[in-house]
Amino acid sequence: MDSGLGGVKTRVASGRSPMGSATSPCKTGSMLTTTDVHPAPSAPPTSIPAPSAPNTSAISRAAGLTKVYGKGEAAVHALSGIDVAFAPQQFTAIMGPSGSGKSTLMHLLAGLDRPTSGTVTLAGQDLTHMKERQLTGLRRTQIGFIFQAYNLVATLTAEENITLPVELAHGKVDRDWLQRMVAVLGLADRLDHRPGELSGGQQQRVACARAMIARPAIVFADEPTGNLDSAASRDLLTFLRRSVDELGQTLVIVTHDPSAAAYADRVLFLVDGNIAADLAHPTEATILDTLHHISHDGGPRPGECEAPLRNAATATAEAAGRIS
Ligand code: ADP
Ligand code: MG
Repeated sequence: MDSGLGGVKTRVASGRSPMGSATSPCKTGSMLTTTDVHPAPSAPPTSIPAPSAPNTSAISRAAGLTKVYGKGEAAVHALSGIDVAFAPQQFTAIMGPSGSGKSTLMHLLAGLDRPTSGTVTLAGQDLTHMKERQLTGLRRTQIGFIFQAYNLVATLTAEENITLPVELAHGKVDRDWLQRMVAVLGLADRLDHRPGELSGGQQQRVACARAMIARPAIVFADEPTGNLDSAASRDLLTFLRRSVDELGQTLVIVTHDPSAAAYADRVLFLVDGNIAADLAHPTEATILDTLHHISHDGGPRPGECEAPLRNAATATAEAAGRIS
């Protein structure tokens, strides 16, 4: 199955999103694409020099990825054969109805769980058959993860929380990198505070810095603004955007919020464990359009796949018109 760039370039004609989910006979018929070029919300000017233009090799890649939870009649087909690649220094948002497989996909890409079939590669290394110990080491150094609940250690200061992963790995904290990150995250005057003395937005920014301290190849965030009010969400998204534009971070987030997804360079839409659309240079309007289209078309139509896989949770969510 083609999960490379060749097939993608024919679909994404221009702009900053050279990567895309690859074509497969099952999905091409129903996948939406766009060549609209609308700039993402721009970051404020800064003295930090912008990284060089993204190169063309994927940081993270999934091929023929499936995940089945449970067995027999109780089996849930969470992912039905995903082919996707993520370019360096790109910000991707994943959207889709509740139960469509967003968290499952992210956990598999981050090596937090293993697929039923298919492969995941990170910086050219195959995670799929990696021994647990090696995978743990790779997660420590190459992968950052931001959760909806900030998961900070209450007894440590913000700075101690940020540097914790490096301390645990007996590494040396890169003070220059810490300083740059903290400046971008607006945390410079909060480093001595404990989580209880910080707002939710500030705590999540500390969690972002913690995810990025080891300079991972890629950072994943599962609904990072889920617990924040709209002002704190905007702040966090602006910081995430800047981490890509100014620090060169590669970032993948799950969100149910079209205005949050509009900060990304690209939006993937999951329906029933398949990629139903892959939108370059999204705006809130094109995201809403795509969601509308998907909720009416329901992604891959029966007959386009040999065995279209649906699950009850998704069907129910879809019927209720819920998007999460
Ligand atoms: P999303 O993040 O899009 O809401 P998930 O990836 O969490 O979706 O879940 C996809 C499907 O897999 C859902 O039907 C969910 O109920 C099911 N699922 C997720 N995790 C598990 C699990 N550990 N055991 C059984 N089913 C699961
Ligand atoms: Mg989820």
